[in-house]
This record gives sequence, C-alpha cells and structure tokens, in this order.
Amino acid sequence: MIIASNFKTNHTRSSTKDFVGAVNEYLKSNRSSEVYVFPTATSLDNFDLQDNLHLGAQNAYPTISGSFTGEIGTSQLDEFNIKTILIGHSERRHVLNESNESIVSKYKYYMELGYKIIYCIGEPLEVKNQGLEKTLEYVYSQLDGIDTTYDNLILAYEPVWAIGTGVTATNDDIINIHNAIKKDIDRPLLYGGSVKLSNVVEICSLENVDGALIGTASWNKDDFIQIIELTKDIK
Ligand code: PEP
Repeated sequence: MIIASNFKTNHTRSSTKDFVGAVNEYLKSNRSSEVYVFPTATSLDNFDLQDNLHLGAQNAYPTISGSFTGEIGTSQLDEFNIKTILIGHSERRHVLNESNESIVSKYKYYMELGYKIIYCIGEPLEVKNQGLEKTLEYVYSQLDGIDTTYDNLILAYEPVWAIGTGVTATNDDIINIHNAIKKDIDRPLLYGGSVKLSNVVEICSLENVDGALIGTASWNKDDFIQIIELTKDIK
C-alpha cells in the first residue's frame, strides 16, 4: 500500500517536525507501506527519515530559480533533498485555476528530473452526474500530454466532489474508475476524497486500489499512524 498525507495549508514548521518525527519513529519499529507526507513549502526540511517515508512538495514551479513571485523551484527543493512532488491536485486546478497546460508542462519538467510524481485526476460533480462514460472522458482528458509510462509516476483518482467534503465516493464509483484506468495504465493508483479512519481499510481493500491520498483525516499524527497501521497488511 501507499499512504500519503496532504497537509494543504495546515501545520506549522514546528508541528510538521513533530508529526514527521512521530511517523518516522513509528516506521522504525513497524513494517509498513510506503508513506508520503506533503507539508507546506515553509515546513520542508532536512529530516533523517526511514527509507519508506518520503517528504514531498505540494507544488513547485517548473524552474531551478528565477522571477516567479510566490513560487519555489528546484533550488529550494534541492536544499532539503526533496525529490517528490504532487501535481494536478484538484484544489490547484479548481480553486487556484491552474490550467491543464501548465500542469502538463510542470509534469514534463519534474519527470525529466526523475522526481516521484503523484499526479491527481478527478471529475467535478456536474461531470459525475452525467454518468461513467463522461466521467472517464473527463478523467482521461486530464491525462492528455502526461507520459503515463513514467516509472516514477503514482496516479491518484480524487473526485473533486469528494475532496474535503466528508462525502466519500461509493465502492462502485471507485471500482468503476480504478478498473478502467488500470486496464490502460500500469502504475500504482491511489484513491483520495474524504478517506478516514473508519473507511480506509474498506477502500484500500478494493480491487485496483493501491493506497490512499488523504487530506483532512491525516492531519492528526496519531490518526495518520493508525491509518498506516490499519492498512499495512492489505495487498
Ligand atoms: C486531498 O487533499 O487530496 C484530499 C483527498 O483531501 P480530503 O481527504 O480532505 O478529502
């Protein structure tokens, strides 16, 4: 399993250090899945981590450095040896209006540098309401220009209507999309969207679900550690 925590705009440097330290301590003495934590850019740091715990950037501009006010590039990521990035998250697409074009160029840039990329796809409610065919069409349009044969790619299916809303997709919703994508793309595929302690085992046990990308329910370190513990034996 792959279990990832997206902090979004939560936690400080100090609480991130505490969180990452606690997860790392847990992983020292417990066999488990691959774990990813995406803190805010201001909380990235050089942590001495277990091999299966990775710190990633929630976002970065496709540049080494330059004049891109408010952004960070690889010179800032390199300082902390960050080699993992989240690209295409629904909040960046739909709240911050990042275009598919800029997402694709970001993907190409970080792929060429060999970064581990968690690439998010997912449909808004009005598309879901048009049925499975339209939903798949929409989701596949988000893969246009994305090299899905890239070895360091992890995909995350995150329906927009399920993110941060407390509404989780049904098992059938997840199975339908995951089965279709996995037929075409041989990469790990996570589900994200209101995953929590009470549903993580059921969701991660579904066919073609390789793990979970979790926002809200992952921000408490004890809950996140429990999620890692609960899912560690799921194949
Ligand atoms: C996310 O941020 O990717 C996410 C899935 O959030 P939440 O778990 O809060 O729905």
